Amino acid sequence: MYIKRIGSVFIALLLLTCSKTNSPIIQLKNDQKIGVNKRKVLIVGWDGVRTDALAVADTKTLFALTKEATFSWNVDRGPFTVSVPGWSTLLHGVWPEKHGLTENAFSGNHYADYPDLFTLAKQTRSEFVTANLSNWDQFLDITQNENISIEVDSDFQLTQQTLMLLNSQTPDLTVLHFNDPDFNGHETGFSPDNPKYIKAIQRSDAYLTQLMELVRYRENRFQEEWMVIVTTDHGGCEGHHDQQEDKKETRFIWYVIRTPNQAPLNLTAEKTNLVDILPTLFEWLNIPIKKEWNLDGKVLKRHV
Ligand SMILES: [Zn+2]
Repeated sequence: MYIKRIGSVFIALLLLTCSKTNSPIIQLKNDQKIGVNKRKVLIVGWDGVRTDALAVADTKTLFALTKEATFSWNVDRGPFTVSVPGWSTLLHGVWPEKHGLTENAFSGNHYADYPDLFTLAKQTRSEFVTANLSNWDQFLDITQNENISIEVDSDFQLTQQTLMLLNSQTPDLTVLHFNDPDFNGHETGFSPDNPKYIKAIQRSDAYLTQLMELVRYRENRFQEEWMVIVTTDHGGCEGHHDQQEDKKETRFIWYVIRTPNQAPLNLTAEKTNLVDILPTLFEWLNIPIKKEWNLDGKVLKRHV
């Protein structure tokens, strides 16, 4: 399924860092394109992180981000509480009744009518470079029009690949999917009282620390401005999360949307939704939101 067409510098970097694990599967659809925009977006998806578990986990980097972010600990992610519908809602900007997905499968999708964020962004900014990285192959099928698609083995490798990518091609719009919290939740329980689950969330925060160090370095060195969005797709109860739209621990999630030096804005008391993230990042990128896209969300306010 994947074609390997890798530039020489990039492959050298890959060989250096991936000698102890299986090589990632990389699909570069447009050779060695380099990002063009000063404003960047990095979406960091943590799969299956329950809000009350996040509250007790030691996630210093995420909470430091709230000091310059719009954030909420009370976000409706909608019905059909599994991953493909949830990430489709975020990345296509519409609820399941429009994107058509209610389980972890793609049959019956309406992606042609409600394209992903990469496709929509390129309608206005065709030169944008876009990337999607995950260790879950289904996640990579939620979007279709990215320039760079990297399938990795682990969240560790995901972080290493992302650091290299941001330093080499620096895409304008990058989506990451970290799987450890969800995996541990299924294995040992989605609960704030489960140390293994909490540790998986803390590992995700440690990876975020590395990513933010690079983001801040690039902002200082190259005058880039990064919107960094950290969020999840569902919580969970007792080792699973499907068909739990009536459980608030599963359905009501959180997001942190950071832009450089903004004043914090806590929207927890307002009703905001997972579909609000896509129009918010488009506004940041100065991409006009077209009426014909028929998006379901609204632009979230930002205190500059
Ligand atoms: Zn999930």
